[in-house]
Amino acid sequence: MPELPEVETSVRALKPFEGKVLENISILNPKLRWKVDTKKISSIENLLIENIFRRAKCIVMQFKNSFHVLHLGMTGTLRIQDAGNNRTEKHDHLIFHFHDKCFVFNDTRKFGYFKILSIEEYKNFDCKLGPEPLSKNFNAKYLEDQTTKSSAAIKNLIMDQKVVVGVGNIYANEALFTAKIHPLTKGSHLSHDERKQLVAAIKTVLTKAIALGGTTLKDFYTPEGNKGYFKIKLKVYGKAGAPCPNCNEIISKIIVGQRASFFCSSCQKIS
Ligand SMILES: [Zn+2]
Repeated sequence: MPELPEVETSVRALKPFEGKVLENISILNPKLRWKVDTKKISSIENLLIENIFRRAKCIVMQFKNSFHVLHLGMTGTLRIQDAGNNRTEKHDHLIFHFHDKCFVFNDTRKFGYFKILSIEEYKNFDCKLGPEPLSKNFNAKYLEDQTTKSSAAIKNLIMDQKVVVGVGNIYANEALFTAKIHPLTKGSHLSHDERKQLVAAIKTVLTKAIALGGTTLKDFYTPEGNKGYFKIKLKVYGKAGAPCPNCNEIISKIIVGQRASFFCSSCQKIS
């Protein structure tokens, strides 16, 4: 499933389209998580893309009077092709056409979505989300404000999009292990140092994964459109029964907030 680093990698692959004119969008299959607005999409003609960026796990294209928001869902991928290349594949949904290139949104399981928002609608979407984990706004002081009165498990808190966006299950597990915090620790029980370590661990694990994603960036340009997502070297995620890389204790698995959670009971004690 595309997590923040994969989405960031997709955004970087799309950066060359900034400053270019989106001539139109073809709809091959409108059925996504929400049926795309075919009328709105068909009316698009020659719009200059001012900016392409990531917000949470969405790819956002900014135009003068609107924002296009694309979410990759569970299985969404993008493929960049030359304009003359009319090749399509099974599960292609949308094709974004430019003068010399196009990019294709493919989604096997159809959990992705594409929305065209007005400036006002985008503001509403944006303000409901917490800060970006790699921004300065996500820091120990901020995490303290968000967690100090909370009896919720810290793992659920860092995966709550209102607290901080884009920390998926894999990265939450890995960051808690790095910060030596048990996933069930209540937000209010964290010390100042633990919050500091957790913020640093989240930033580090995501930055590493993005850096690895950078090495696969070229794949987005190949006509084959490589669909493989990259993986960071995981320390605890999916490693139940294996020895802890720090102390050799066996990694445990529990369910927290309906999500699989992996931890070392020796390194990550409940505080
Ligand atoms: Zn350990």
